[in-house]
Amino acid sequence: MKVLKFGGTSIGTPERMRAVAELVTREPEVVVVVLSALSKTTDKLLKIGAALQSQNVDSALAHIDELYSHYQQYVNALYTTEQGRKQGWKAVERHFDLIRGVPRKVFDNREERVLVAQGELMSTAMFHHYLQEQGVPSALLPALEFVRLDDNGEPDLNFLRVNLTRLMQEHPPPVLFITQGYICRNAWGEIDNLKRGGSDYTASLVGAALRCEEIQIWTDIDGMHNNDPRYVKDTYPIRELSFDEAAELAYFGAKILHPSSVQPAKQFNIPVRLLNTMEPLAPGTLIADKTSGSEIKAVAAKDGIVAIKIKSTRMFLAYGFLRRVFEVFERYKTPIDMITTSEVAVSLTIDNPEHLEDITRELREFGMVEVDHDQTIICVVGDFVADRPGMALRVFEALKAIPIRMISYGGSRHNISILIHISLKAEVLKVLNDGLFKTHP
Ligand code: ASP
Ligand code: MG
Repeated sequence: MKVLKFGGTSIGTPERMRAVAELVTREPEVVVVVLSALSKTTDKLLKIGAALQSQNVDSALAHIDELYSHYQQYVNALYTTEQGRKQGWKAVERHFDLIRGVPRKVFDNREERVLVAQGELMSTAMFHHYLQEQGVPSALLPALEFVRLDDNGEPDLNFLRVNLTRLMQEHPPPVLFITQGYICRNAWGEIDNLKRGGSDYTASLVGAALRCEEIQIWTDIDGMHNNDPRYVKDTYPIRELSFDEAAELAYFGAKILHPSSVQPAKQFNIPVRLLNTMEPLAPGTLIADKTSGSEIKAVAAKDGIVAIKIKSTRMFLAYGFLRRVFEVFERYKTPIDMITTSEVAVSLTIDNPEHLEDITRELREFGMVEVDHDQTIICVVGDFVADRPGMALRVFEALKAIPIRMISYGGSRHNISILIHISLKAEVLKVLNDGLFKTHP
């Protein structure tokens, strides 16, 4: 069994959706297809939500009308028969009734989550009806019945496994299974989601729950690249990555994969392949339990980082200091990304400044607090085995003219993280590229 996930651009036009249908029906194995919403739909639904939240009903209605005509055109072009078009449109229109009907006076976060869920519900319904029209037996499995979050907001894999298997058993083979990425229910049974880009995570959870043979994430580029193609020319896809390397890259800015999606695959040792719908035969990137190839594999950057330095004479020779610092972040549910310490100070970074004011207020009780905004983490990923000398040197050689705010090395054998001001990002990505990869064939 394989799980194949297609992102929004892979089904962004009727032609592309038809190409996806061809691709998945060619698979000899049992396939579960996980779909995102059509490209730009989630953004549009969020815009509608934001307009309603600010009581701007006219603007919301204008966005709804635009989306509506986009789907009308899409449906008209997708299906090949009048009957198919009718069925497909019927399935889509239900969701527009719901979108138009969301309560406007009491529009809150809960309504917004219902609203954004319509994107994946529509794309999967359209795809299912298209396969039906083409005479391909398919079953549409409602993700809202098996993807559920627990009290901690974490997906419940056991629940998923039990309920998904039960639903699948209701459909005798051969049948192609389709389900929605991204959407789920929370611990209170409300409609919720796995955060932006979460369809990858759904695919990985489904793959892990079914202990499938392979998870494929289909996008519109040819795999994870060794550097950010928006800033650096001559980047190339990395053929093989270990789970840990892929997790670091996804977390530190490689947009191609949702960072949480590596963990479930790693837990059950299921290979993840990143593939390109525009070039289905290209090898893409294989993420698996082993690594191979060159020692330094890739560079990624994550913006929007805030650095916080706490300087305290009380830290000198004291124990328990770091614990108290960490507890502040824990109280505000704010994860820490990087950390470096000296005898009298500790510097750390966060990427979610929502509670920054409260956090710094509490930290000031321990000493002097300095906050730097607009920071970027540059993450160099590879197999930095401690007994392989010279690896760190190559990185710092490349960076010799760059002012660095923080360095983190040795936390794992997979990365060196460097904190810089965002204004230096393009330059840093470039000098690292020249210094680390220019020898690549
Ligand atoms: N449609 C959602 C988004 O745009 C989920 C996804 O595409 O993975 O974030
Ligand atoms: Mg995505």
